[in-house]
Amino acid sequence: MCQEMPFANDELDFTYPLPSYFEHYPSCYIYVYNGKVVANSADLSDSPKILHDCSQEMRTKKVVQYAGALGEKLCYAIGLESEDRVPDGMQLLFLRDLIGQIDEKILAVAGRAVQLIEFDLTSRICGRCGTLTETLEDRGKKCPRCDLLIYPRISPAIIVLVMKEDEVLLARSSHFRPDMYSIIAGFVEPGETLEHAVKREVMEEVGLKVKNIRYFASQPWPFPNSLMIGFIADYEEGEIKVDGVEIIDAGWFRRDELPNVPGKVSISGHLIDWFASMKEK
Ligand SMILES: [Zn+2]
Repeated sequence: MCQEMPFANDELDFTYPLPSYFEHYPSCYIYVYNGKVVANSADLSDSPKILHDCSQEMRTKKVVQYAGALGEKLCYAIGLESEDRVPDGMQLLFLRDLIGQIDEKILAVAGRAVQLIEFDLTSRICGRCGTLTETLEDRGKKCPRCDLLIYPRISPAIIVLVMKEDEVLLARSSHFRPDMYSIIAGFVEPGETLEHAVKREVMEEVGLKVKNIRYFASQPWPFPNSLMIGFIADYEEGEIKVDGVEIIDAGWFRRDELPNVPGKVSISGHLIDWFASMKEK
């Protein structure tokens, strides 16, 4: 199930700081600028190449982050200072446009590369006192004046498929295209458990109580730094009520009458596919 989920690949080695046995592995580089990565500009009907073998500029760049080991290659993310620094013969591509176009493991590393460079660029100054931060051995940053510690931000969001017997709850957000429905999702609030966030989001968005919340899978979603945590829950009580602003329609759908729903690019598509395929069981 998770093998086909973009950005979710638990076979990669993200161990950091680098173990000593990695020291002699060759390096490769992903260049990042403003959420995009540099690819060769070959015809895009071919698989774009985003791993580059050499970087003469590597030693002079200020923004370099180790992004993980791909087999026996160490992959580094390099932040470009401007669009003008894209090497000749290359172009910038959005991460989203690489989904399904490149190897899953390379895509997962690229998702990390983009997030780590963004972290590096947005943590240069202490958010508490405005002093320049210092980089720590373990990737974090520290403010030398007030000792604030900063690490890459990950924003957890729950996504939940709610079932009522043979039907699934689907809702249409105001920012979806007109015929598109999906399941309920939302960011976890400070102080909440994931289960609490599931109950709150379902109540806020459609006015229903749910029970029997169980874990499904998770997916890093680097737009810009979410971690989607998927659940399945059973309907408990209530009538569907939508706010008409954020959610403009919601309803119960049988497996054989599903509207347009997200594809398996995202965990929402995987959850809905799981529900749709249950009829075989
Ligand atoms: Zn500070």
